[in-house]
Amino acid sequence: MREILLHDTRSGRSVPLRPRSGRRVGIYACGPTVYGPVHVGNARPFVVFSLLARFLRHEGLEPRLVINVTDVNDKIYDAAQAAGVASERLAREMTERYVAETDELGLGRPYAEPLASETIPAIVALVEELVARGHAYPAEGDVYFDVRSFPGYGSLSHRDVEAMDQGEGVEGAARKRDPLDFALWKATKPGEDTSWESRWGPGRPGWHIECSAMAEALLGVGFEVHGGGSDLVFPHHENEAAQTEAARGSPLAAIWMHNGMVRAEKKASESKEKMSKSLGNVFLLGEALAAWGRDPLIMYLCGAHYRKPIDYSERALREAGRRVDRVREVARRLAPGASPAALAPLRERFFAALANDFNTAEALNGAVFPWIREVNARLDAGEVVGSEDLETMLDVLGLVGIVRVKNGTESGAAQAADPGVRGLVARREQARAARDFALADHLRDELAARGWTVRDGPEGPSLVAR
Ligand SMILES: [Zn+2]
Repeated sequence: MREILLHDTRSGRSVPLRPRSGRRVGIYACGPTVYGPVHVGNARPFVVFSLLARFLRHEGLEPRLVINVTDVNDKIYDAAQAAGVASERLAREMTERYVAETDELGLGRPYAEPLASETIPAIVALVEELVARGHAYPAEGDVYFDVRSFPGYGSLSHRDVEAMDQGEGVEGAARKRDPLDFALWKATKPGEDTSWESRWGPGRPGWHIECSAMAEALLGVGFEVHGGGSDLVFPHHENEAAQTEAARGSPLAAIWMHNGMVRAEKKASESKEKMSKSLGNVFLLGEALAAWGRDPLIMYLCGAHYRKPIDYSERALREAGRRVDRVREVARRLAPGASPAALAPLRERFFAALANDFNTAEALNGAVFPWIREVNARLDAGEVVGSEDLETMLDVLGLVGIVRVKNGTESGAAQAADPGVRGLVARREQARAARDFALADHLRDELAARGWTVRDGPEGPSLVAR
């Protein structure tokens, strides 16, 4: 079996992935805080860790990917109050929207998607354990983690303890023994419309302890990979790691993986009107999917190493769309079946790139596109070339649909079952119901680009392969 190296933030090095037992690999990635619609930046960890799990499965491992939903959080109370709705309702609606939109990415669902609101007993028990072990203290209905009681604090984010700011501002400052301490449990404040009972009185958990408890509930302690955006290294992950190790006496996770940020590009030279119409400013995931389609969006996200920041711009998405077209064009010319043995080294190079810190950019630039260039030359020379290697490679990146629709190797019914395609049909129906015909037409074009014609009949829409 290929050795798989992943960059670990704690050690600062690429380290081998070693399952604790058998082939099972637990991966916990921090998911969205559901106070508004998710944006492309939230989609990046969803895509990176979903594809990592897909790659590990290809390598014969049994990944269990957990991506949580933070549905109890200050940001949700604030947004709900501002909108004049109940926080539970806002969180539920935004969770449903997040699930529907990430469904459209067509990468399937994670093994588990725990909600903080459904993990409260485990969270309270973990806080109680920290108090019992002398790593936390109650104060007027709140409970704080005693940072200086845990000697390893700072070893994940490599920060000097004295230079740390928990980002909690003045909140709780008077009740903390030390400004470094952070909240595990917060007493209910005026304006907060949900609370849970605890031995410290009614309240609700802090953000960091939610993830410690959700991860342990599903994967145990000492699982293989903890992931999330690089903006979470401090304080969120530093605190998660400290809480669990202080309570359980062993590390939460073996490897800490962090994806780079998606940076929205704002062009000062563009007029305001143009800015508002420019597709480069479409940053919400649902809008980005409608504007660009799932294949270009995933091609775009795979086009950079996951650890690097990536600029989100119209130019970058158009370039990704052209790369999808290049795949589609060669796919039309391929025959079903085995690819030439002479091209097998490129397939090997593809998987070697993924095994070396999941380098999707190198997998595309060093294997997929060189394969396409070589195959186009062979096709031009009259050779018959089988699509198998291209399908094997693109399947791991969640992009095999580009080949299969045009290549006719997957039945219409199977393609129609693709959640991405189904999601587009459902969104087009919603748009039609809302009389947003421009959006409905756009979604029809997107379906057409994926090889489907929509026919609207008395029984509702049906799909016909183009
Ligand atoms: Zn988290």
